[in-house]
Amino acid sequence: MDALLERLRAGLPAEALITDPDVTASYAHDMASFCDAGTPAAVVLPRSVEEVQHVMRTATALRVPVVPQGARTGLSGAANASDGCIVLSLVKMDRILEISPVDRIAVVEPGVVNATLSRAVGELGLYYPPDPSSWETCTIGGNIGTASGGLCCVKYGVTAEYVLGLEVVLADGRLLNTGRRTAKGVAGYDLTRLFVGSEGSLGIVVKAVLALRPRPPQQLVLAAEFPSAAAACDAVCRIMERGHTPSLLELMDRTTVRAVNAMASMGLPESTEALLLCAFDTPDPAADLAAVGELCKASGATEVVPADDVAESELLLQARRSALPALETVKSATMIDDVCVPRSRLGAMIEGTAAIAEKFGLTIGVCAHAGDGNTHPVVCFDHTDPDESRRARASFDEIMALGLELGGTITGEHGVGVLKKEWLARELGEVGLELQRGIKSAFDPLGLLNPGKLF
Ligand SMILES: Cc1cc2nc3c(=O)[nH]c(=O)nc-3n(C[C@H](O)[C@H](O)[C@H](O)COP(=O)(O)OP(=O)(O)OC[C@H]3O[C@@H](n4cnc5c(N)ncnc54)[C@H](O)[C@@H]3O)c2cc1C
Repeated sequence: MDALLERLRAGLPAEALITDPDVTASYAHDMASFCDAGTPAAVVLPRSVEEVQHVMRTATALRVPVVPQGARTGLSGAANASDGCIVLSLVKMDRILEISPVDRIAVVEPGVVNATLSRAVGELGLYYPPDPSSWETCTIGGNIGTASGGLCCVKYGVTAEYVLGLEVVLADGRLLNTGRRTAKGVAGYDLTRLFVGSEGSLGIVVKAVLALRPRPPQQLVLAAEFPSAAAACDAVCRIMERGHTPSLLELMDRTTVRAVNAMASMGLPESTEALLLCAFDTPDPAADLAAVGELCKASGATEVVPADDVAESELLLQARRSALPALETVKSATMIDDVCVPRSRLGAMIEGTAAIAEKFGLTIGVCAHAGDGNTHPVVCFDHTDPDESRRARASFDEIMALGLELGGTITGEHGVGVLKKEWLARELGEVGLELQRGIKSAFDPLGLLNPGKLF
């Protein structure tokens, strides 16, 4: 330990290295429940690529594990510390280095907060679409680490679609450049894409070239109330089948609606079984919303209420963004599933989840990026009750099994981390897992980067 700290100090300014155990302990885990976290030996907050390289060279020389971190808003334990590790928090590398309206790119350091980038490019008439609900706090490095999605992905796609190139410090301290800053480019294997969603297990992202789009018109939102989740899912299928391109298509079940009202007094309709939010950022959003409103009615919607203006639309979005924090107040703890199924199976997924809740005698609220088929069943439980905790974990697992049965994936956007490790093997199969392990060891032969995650 002394040797480690001495070597780290030799290449870092004093303020970049934290060793006070009370402070380092506060960096031990992200926001996921049920995920073990170890005790870090030190936390390093670098401000430059050279400092990151110094940390990785030190770690390799002394065979010390390194856990990269952004804002620790992750929901799978992917940023959790392991015993004796160096936590490498990238939050101080938070400069936007370049925004080019001609090339339609931004070049950023990994600690830039998602909303900060969105606002900065917005001022130039540009748009960085990926918008996790945690956008006011989560970082671009973390978004790349988890390949995160968000509310607008039904139209604009997820983080992977916007990462053009990366600068990465490898486990041994070498600097790797991947990808491009051009509109096109197919030279060699797509290592950039490989890093997206790699959960800090292949290298430390120190710079990213991100694609931007022209800023679309402000979106207008419609809220539709349904007598059942199945009817709301039917509306989702009709909307997509008819070729509409909503900029947002989100679902909240009754439990979620009530939790949001209880937390934030949003005035959402509590009698509804399912609330569907649909938005358009097209030149004539009112006309698109009217057409979608008719489809909702045909699926059994009891109320269809288009927002009057952008301010009212923003309130509805805020309600949706507060769904996870609101469900966290229902009981003392939550486990948040992230199963994504083909859109056509969304109804079966939500009905199956309700059956699982009943079987285990638990409250499971569901909010979903419905247009993507990406559900977030949130298991609410009392963590001081051992039996309820056991049932919570069992129901969480059954929800993933149901997702796989329906042709889906165990994680649409939150990642595998510690929480879903056993399930990754089931989804990938033997051959897939073996190749993924081979890739990991090509980048990180000593297994120092974020050990214990993914596999
Ligand atoms: C209220 C709430 C709402 C959320 N909503 C969404 C949502 O809508 N969509 C969604 O996808 N997620 C959502 N999340 C999950 C979370 O915010 C995302 O996964 C986010 O991308 C994590 O970013 P972060 O900066 O907190 O990263 P962290 O949690 O710190 O890290 C995430 C992963 O990235 C790795 N990592 C971080 N920085 C680097 C780097 N520079 N180089 C290499 N690896 C790195 C870490 O090791 C870890 O594996 C939500 C979370 C909360 C709490």
